[in-house]
Amino acid sequence: MDKMSVNEVPVQGKRVLVRVDFNVPVDEQCNITDDTRIRAALPTIQYLVREGAKIILVSHFGRPKGQVNPKYSLAPVAVRLAELLGQKVDFANECIGKAVKQKVSSLEDGQVLLLENIRFYPGEEKNDPGFAQELAGLAELFVNDAFGTAHRAHTSTEGVAHYLPAVAGFLMLKEIETMGKALQSPERPFVAIIGGAKVGDKIGVIENLLEKVDTLLIGGGMANTFLKAQGYKLGKSLVEDDKLDLAQLIMLKAQEREVLLELPDDVLVATVMEADVPFRNVQVWGIDEDEIILDIGVATAAKFGKHIINAGTVVWNGPMGVFEIPSFAKGTQVVAQAMALCKGATIVGGGDSVAAVKKLQVSDKLTHISTGGGASLEFLEGRILPGVAALKDKKSE
Ligand code: ADP
Ligand code: MG
Repeated sequence: MDKMSVNEVPVQGKRVLVRVDFNVPVDEQCNITDDTRIRAALPTIQYLVREGAKIILVSHFGRPKGQVNPKYSLAPVAVRLAELLGQKVDFANECIGKAVKQKVSSLEDGQVLLLENIRFYPGEEKNDPGFAQELAGLAELFVNDAFGTAHRAHTSTEGVAHYLPAVAGFLMLKEIETMGKALQSPERPFVAIIGGAKVGDKIGVIENLLEKVDTLLIGGGMANTFLKAQGYKLGKSLVEDDKLDLAQLIMLKAQEREVLLELPDDVLVATVMEADVPFRNVQVWGIDEDEIILDIGVATAAKFGKHIINAGTVVWNGPMGVFEIPSFAKGTQVVAQAMALCKGATIVGGGDSVAAVKKLQVSDKLTHISTGGGASLEFLEGRILPGVAALKDKKSE
C-alpha cells in the first residue's frame, strides 16, 4: 500500500493545498513553546517553494469546536514559519470565500499562504462534502503532510481528497514507510516494548504486535494487571481488575505464537506517588500492602535493555514508569538509552513516550520518532487511517 509522493507529480506553477500539522504547544500569551511540528513540515514546503508551486497551507490548531476564537488563531504560526523559511508567508484569516480566493490568485510561483485554523469551521470535523468542495476549489493538487491527524476523517484530511488529486508529503511518507516496513517486513529479532498507564488503552496495539514480534516487553502501569493475573500481590498499585482475564488471554496467545513475553521481575515502589519520597527496589513478590509500583526495577530495566540493544527492529510505545517524577524516570531512561545504542531500526510512537525521548535527548539516535500520538497508536493497531487511505497509490512499476 505505497502512497504516491509529492515529488512524483508536476507542481510547477500549480496551486497546491498542503495539509500540515501546525498544532503547536503555546503558553498563556500564545507564544509558541515548541516549533518541532512547524520544522517537521519544512522539507515539503521548501520542496514546493523550490519547484515553483503556489503553496496554500491548511492546519488545525487546538479545539475551537467549529467557532472562530482568536485564542486559536494560526497568525503567530505564520510569523514563525516565515522566520524558519526565510521568506514572506501571507496569512488569510479565513479558509474559504472570496477574500481567500483573491489571495490565492495573487500568489506567485514559490510563494506561501497560510489559511486560518480550519477548525473554526464546523464543516471540518463533520467532513462536510460542501465544505470540502469549497476548500478543494482553491487548488489543483492536495498534499497531505499531517500524519498526526491522519486517523481523523475530516474535511482537510480526507474529504478534500475526493475533489483533488491527493498525494503524500515527505513527513507523511516517512511516517507510513518506516512504521509500515517495521510492521510488514521487519529486520529480526523484532522487539516491541509497551508501557504507559493502562492495558485498556493499548489492547489493540498489543494484539496486533503479538502477531508480528519475536519479543514483547511490557512495563509501566499496564504491567501490573499482568502481574496480578499471575497471582502477585501489588499493594496499592494501579491495577485494572476488569482486565485480568484479558491479560491472561494475551499471555496465552503469546505462548501459542511462541512470542517471548517479558514482564518486570523487580520494581520501584513508594507509599505515595510524589516527588522526593523514599522508595525501594523490590522483587514483584515482595511488595507491601501500602506500596505502589512507580517504575520498573534495576534488574528489569537491564533485562529489557539487553533485548532492545540486540534487536533488528524495536517499536516502543508508553513509558516504563511515572517518568514525570525524576526518581521514577530511570526505567524509561534505560529503555531510551538502549534504543539509542541499538543498531537496528528504532521507532517511538505515543505522546508521552515521545516527550520522554525528547527530554532524554536521544532523538537524533533513533530511526523514527512519530509526530502523531493517536495516529501512530492506530497505525500500530494495524488500522487503516482515513487520511492515508485517501491518498493515491504509487503506480506499480
Ligand atoms: P503514551 O502517551 O506514550 O502512549 P500513555 O499515555 O499510555 O503513554 O502512558 C503514560 C502515562 O503512564 C504517564 O503519565 C505515566 O505517569 C503513566 N504511568 C507509567 N507507569 C505507571 C505506573 N506504574 N503507575 C501509574 N501510572 C504510570
Ligand atoms: Mg499519553
